[in-house]
Amino acid sequence: MSRHLNNPEKIKIGISACLLGQEVRFDGGHQRDNYITDVLGKYFTYIPLCPEVAIGLGVPRSSLRLISFSKDGLNPQAIMLKTDVNHTVQLQEFAKISAPKLDKISGYIFKKKSPSCGLERVKIYNSEGIPVGHGMGVYAKEVSNLLPLLPTEEEGRLYDLRLRENFIKRVYLYSEWQKLCEEGLGFQGLLKFHTRHKLLLIAHHYGNSKLLGKFIASLNPHIDQAGFLEIANQYIQLFMQTIKKIPDRRHHGQVLERIMVRINQHLESKQKKDLLKLIQEYLSGSIPLSIPIRMIRHYLTVFDEPNLEIQSYLNPYPEDLGLMNGI
Ligand code: SF4
Repeated sequence: MSRHLNNPEKIKIGISACLLGQEVRFDGGHQRDNYITDVLGKYFTYIPLCPEVAIGLGVPRSSLRLISFSKDGLNPQAIMLKTDVNHTVQLQEFAKISAPKLDKISGYIFKKKSPSCGLERVKIYNSEGIPVGHGMGVYAKEVSNLLPLLPTEEEGRLYDLRLRENFIKRVYLYSEWQKLCEEGLGFQGLLKFHTRHKLLLIAHHYGNSKLLGKFIASLNPHIDQAGFLEIANQYIQLFMQTIKKIPDRRHHGQVLERIMVRINQHLESKQKKDLLKLIQEYLSGSIPLSIPIRMIRHYLTVFDEPNLEIQSYLNPYPEDLGLMNGI
């Protein structure tokens, strides 16, 4: 059974504090996001951080801007407009200090467009105030470099249903990996983890799912601990990259058809027809993924297919979140 069903402990998520309604913005305001607070808040415990307040800039304050002093627009610095003081190093240092504490979080939601917190497309200016490109906020960039496995997203992108589903799925899977590591990662644990996520990996990227299978096949129970940890580390890096790729309907359709082949022997002819019809309706875009998945889950309660029942593909996060209704 997946972690979210048998563990009432909420998953910890780092977040830009202004998104929770904390009045920490340069103008003394906030950017409370109701979906984050009221919906996701039922499943996640938030660790709010405002890097600009944390480095002592105060509220209210003059705003920061990313400014590049080089002709190519690279290496932007976080400059306070009113004072011209460069706060880049302070923000980077704060990320370094926070990183060990953030080790226990399973995801991070950043505020878009912020020169400190924005994950992408933050405006970069030249020293004359002319926009010359886009980049990452200084703090968000440092956190992403320090914690490369951590699922990250901006609040604005969570309004895209496919990106939302993908981020939350990554959070749940990463949290499962962290739990496995806390319990003491070993050969059997890694094997079980891979087996449970096989179909999900196929949906996200067939080629990578094969590569990940090769990592597992290259392990033998007698490998020394250092060799094992090296392979496990390579495995989880590719695993997290793989699940970031967003599958389209065709990819999901291929996995649904694989499942159908596995359960065919148990189904009466009407059940086969019904399931096939749902898969085709899903492929044509007329129903969401949740509908064929629900039917498969129902069939799995009737007959015995333990290798399918454990597949995270059928149950990657709490159903109440309704995420499969949007893809
Ligand atoms: S975007 Fe980041 S730095 Fe700006 S107010 Fe929100 S938490 Fe603070």
